[in-house]
Amino acid sequence: MMAPDLASIPGAIFQACQDIIFPPSCLGCRNPLPASRLPLFCVSCREQLKWLKAPLCPGCGRPWPAGSGVDHWCGPCRQKPPFYNRARAAVIYQDPVAAAIQTCKYQADLAALASLASLARCSPALDLGAAQSIAIRAAEYDYILPVPLHLERLRQRGFNQALLLARAFFPGQKKKIRFDLLARQRMTRPQAGMSGHQRRLNLKGAFEVLKPEKIRRRSLLLVDDVLTTGTTVNECARILRLAGAAGVDVFTLARVRE
Ligand SMILES: [Zn+2]
Ligand SMILES: [Zn+2]
Repeated sequence: MMAPDLASIPGAIFQACQDIIFPPSCLGCRNPLPASRLPLFCVSCREQLKWLKAPLCPGCGRPWPAGSGVDHWCGPCRQKPPFYNRARAAVIYQDPVAAAIQTCKYQADLAALASLASLARCSPALDLGAAQSIAIRAAEYDYILPVPLHLERLRQRGFNQALLLARAFFPGQKKKIRFDLLARQRMTRPQAGMSGHQRRLNLKGAFEVLKPEKIRRRSLLLVDDVLTTGTTVNECARILRLAGAAGVDVFTLARVRE
């Protein structure tokens, strides 16, 4: 008897068999799910998702409480404008998304990553019909650059989550997504618990533009998993602007709430 050709099994049946062998579970609470439909979150975890929407700071994208009027600048952006034009994110960094991001990064769970990316694609930030202040549209950029990992860290982890997310956020933009233009040339210490000044010192000289001639006069989108204080993407934007980039925007899956 011939072995069945896996490619000839219709996708839905194949998925159903997979679900029996490897029952899908919610990325937030780990409770079993009836089927692997992306994003892999149960109904109650989905209800806890905090989508970022207006009103927000036009620069760093910090959200203002609902009902507090129109978009307006925050104090830090007014005092020291960031080197990027605007940073936007899909959701606030909290569970269940925070737990799922940790699973992706430290357990190399690529199904979790695909799930998170599909979640971001439902967000107002990537919705083609969304208001201008929120929307990030791939068509407006010459290149999409994932925030790079140092080679050593890449070897340890085996993948750069920012690159995988960029590919999943913007399917059909493969040619625009470039990981050969910006590199992290120095290992930096984990930034949790550092002051703003310490973070900036820690990142000094950490990034390098590899092909300045490709960057000059280009409009760029930086992609990362989480925006914490924004120091990392701001440092990337600083050296990209120094290399002559026309403008830099930032998109992250999640954003820490201050
Ligand atoms: Zn759940
Ligand atoms: Zn701001």
